[in-house]
Amino acid sequence: MYDLQPKASHFVDGAYVEDTAGAALDVIYPATGQVIAKLHEATDAIIEKAIESGLRAQKEWAATPGRERGRVLTRAAQIIRERNRELSVLETHDTGKPMQETLYVDATSAADAMEYFGGLAATLTGEHIQLGEDWVYTVREALGLCVGIGAWNYPTQIAGWKGAPALACGNALTFKPSEETPLCALKIAEILHEAGAPAGLYNVVQGRGAVGAKLVTDARVAKVSLTGSVPTGRKVYAAAAEGMKHVTMELGGKSPLIIFDDADLETAVSGAILGNFYSSGQVCSNGTRVFVQKGIKEAFLKRLAERVETAKIGDPLDEEVSFGPMVSERQRSIVLSYIEKGQAEGARLITGGNAIEGEGFYIQPTVFADVTDDMTIAKEEIFGPVMSVLDFEDEDDVIARANDTEFGLAAGVFTTNLTCAHRVIGQIKAGSCYINTYNDAPVEAPFGGMKASGVGRENSKEAISHFSEVKSVYVRMGDLEAPY
Ligand code: NDP
Repeated sequence: MYDLQPKASHFVDGAYVEDTAGAALDVIYPATGQVIAKLHEATDAIIEKAIESGLRAQKEWAATPGRERGRVLTRAAQIIRERNRELSVLETHDTGKPMQETLYVDATSAADAMEYFGGLAATLTGEHIQLGEDWVYTVREALGLCVGIGAWNYPTQIAGWKGAPALACGNALTFKPSEETPLCALKIAEILHEAGAPAGLYNVVQGRGAVGAKLVTDARVAKVSLTGSVPTGRKVYAAAAEGMKHVTMELGGKSPLIIFDDADLETAVSGAILGNFYSSGQVCSNGTRVFVQKGIKEAFLKRLAERVETAKIGDPLDEEVSFGPMVSERQRSIVLSYIEKGQAEGARLITGGNAIEGEGFYIQPTVFADVTDDMTIAKEEIFGPVMSVLDFEDEDDVIARANDTEFGLAAGVFTTNLTCAHRVIGQIKAGSCYINTYNDAPVEAPFGGMKASGVGRENSKEAISHFSEVKSVYVRMGDLEAPY
């Protein structure tokens, strides 16, 4: 049995802090339903301490040369890698995701972000623009105190993806994890502090939506970066707009994954599995509308069912297990209600469809075929292991149907015809696209959505422009005249 109780609920101003006046927050292990830690929501006093210490630390940090800022981030990356197993065990308890995933993509992707943005920190410069004798120079400045708010599916990764570019640019960040998964971000804060980040630079405060809302509406906060659902995104974006704050919105999706007749069957099945069942389907960019061309449809469904039924469902701490529980009882019942709707609206169940009896919030990986565009399961984000397979014949038709959604987060195409692949992807309105693969998200590539799926991009050099702003300075070399 692991002792997962943190020293205190929050990490603020370089130390663990507690205020038991905050409402109780029990942390539940999704694989057993047992309480594994007991925390408290941040009170106003904790929030104030986070904001004050963040503002103070940011001044000092912005005045630190980029190379030194980068060194702190790369040192944090190294510590994260050294503690990968311990952090993965924690992530598995926080989310229920199998160790087979967390050992490879959670803490490691936070470390990737620290390394990448640590390397960029010394390269952030402005430009010189000659205007005859006069000239303009630009300076890339930090925004100030930023707020990050996370979803529950990738708590360590989200804490790193927001923290690394924010700090590289000279900002401070106060992060509020999802109430479902509060443990991992505390470790990121602790490690950054250990790596040399000044006290207050990266704070973590716990709480439900109301704590996030307090941070977002505080006039001293310059930017809000949210990972969450579209409805929450609308609220947070509107609240940030009141204060004319910068925003990054990483929101939900209902992404198309298009499989042409000439696709390599095993590769396409792998793409559909990875793009629907990884993290028990709790991935924003999942390709949950799988459009399959008529000629390959039956072979695809047969092979898909065979392979999905070999998923090893069980204790996520067992490294042989490849499929874990949903994050919460609530999320499981949401997903089960979508499965019922799919059946009621006439979709054909190919495999799965049931909750798994016993402890924990398990549900079988589920595939529906003969799904049509107007069915609820083809329109709404389910955020669980439910794949909808839709038929298509014609390329133009599938492009129009793929785009017929309010979302625009991701899209994938499987075909051996490269001209077709690029032609199709070129016409899809989505921010993160894939050809003959799905859901790869290296830190070097921009990540984020179009349309209702979001605003701004995380990762890559793009993130720099979302965590800094440009000042231009006009320098006149001669005398200045005025009309009177
Ligand atoms: P939610 O939108 O329910 O919550 C996101 C975060 O916002 C949580 O920390 C939540 O707190 C907080 N929050 C809720 N209300 C407010 C408010 N009024 N002001 C400030 N903060 C608030 O999302 P989930 O946690 O359920 O995550 C699933 C969603 O996230 C899916 O839609 C998924 O697609 C999306 N997502 C998007 C990603 C992307 O990069 N595009 C990546 C991962 C997930 P609390 O939960 O404690 O109430």
